[in-house]
Amino acid sequence: MLAVHLENGAVTTRTLPVPHRPEGFALLRLLTAGICNTDLELQRGYYGFTGTPGHEFVAEVVEADTSALTGKRVAGEINLACTHCEWCRKGLGRHCPNRTVLGIVTHPGAFAEFFTLPERNLHVLPDDVPTHRAVFIEPLAAACEILDQVSIPAGEPIAVLGDGKLGLLIAMVLNAHGYPVHQFGRHPAKLAIAARTGVETHLAPASLPTAAYDWVVDATGNPEGLRSAAAMTRPRGTVILKSTIHGAVPVDTAPIIVNELTLVGSRCGRFESALPLLSNPLIRFDELIAARFPLAEAPKAFAQAAGAGEEVDYRNSLSGFVSHRCRCSP
Ligand SMILES: [Zn+2]
Ligand SMILES: [Zn+2]
Repeated sequence: MLAVHLENGAVTTRTLPVPHRPEGFALLRLLTAGICNTDLELQRGYYGFTGTPGHEFVAEVVEADTSALTGKRVAGEINLACTHCEWCRKGLGRHCPNRTVLGIVTHPGAFAEFFTLPERNLHVLPDDVPTHRAVFIEPLAAACEILDQVSIPAGEPIAVLGDGKLGLLIAMVLNAHGYPVHQFGRHPAKLAIAARTGVETHLAPASLPTAAYDWVVDATGNPEGLRSAAAMTRPRGTVILKSTIHGAVPVDTAPIIVNELTLVGSRCGRFESALPLLSNPLIRFDELIAARFPLAEAPKAFAQAAGAGEEVDYRNSLSGFVSHRCRCSP
């Protein structure tokens, strides 16, 4: 089978045997996958990754212990939890210390014709959700995670910093939940996507207000993001951190302590919260797709995803797309 291979920053394709399906796992055939900032971070050396990347996907079940799953179109949670540790027993497998992660930590990823995931990770997709929308469920769930972690009173304005794929999804999700969202970014064309759904957008950094919001989300993907977010937050306000950055970020703690800010780290979310939003017209998935490529052209897709940025600072927050036409689609 064809598989993408990442090693020392180089993206290539190679032919590998179809993976063995362990008990409790499903063998999946890739339909469509998305390249996200995390994949570009892996390419830069995050987690010392070598192997097949890919964690945002829609696939068809080829074989599983549960025969009813065969032939179903699925998305899948990316954390492979051990199921028996303290965290797993609390239902927090996403924090299992023994976990592997699809295409990120140890477990071979979805940028291949075939790959495996535990059956319990899979979610069968409703027939009326097109594959090119469903492929966003993983970052969509990450956006939804914010509202699982903090309860923001209805009507409270929320500032979102960053206009990459995740920043846009966060802004559109919060807006779809009825919050007034003010998004700050550096790319007029990207901000326009959120603006069309009713988000109030501002071109940064010219217009970054000081001590203006009780709720600020940093999704810039750059080390300056936290400082800007803290400066925008009112005393006793909350900053939600969505940027994962390779390497240490220097933080000036004085404004955080003086203003008694709450910092909330926020990562992956539950797919259950995201599933209903896949068909919400206020989330403009189609407009987040930069380009489509067959799997064999993955090196080109990675190059485009990494290089499409107009500004170096925001290079991290771009989305690309690998599209793989499966044998059974028309
Ligand atoms: Zn991702
Ligand atoms: Zn565990």
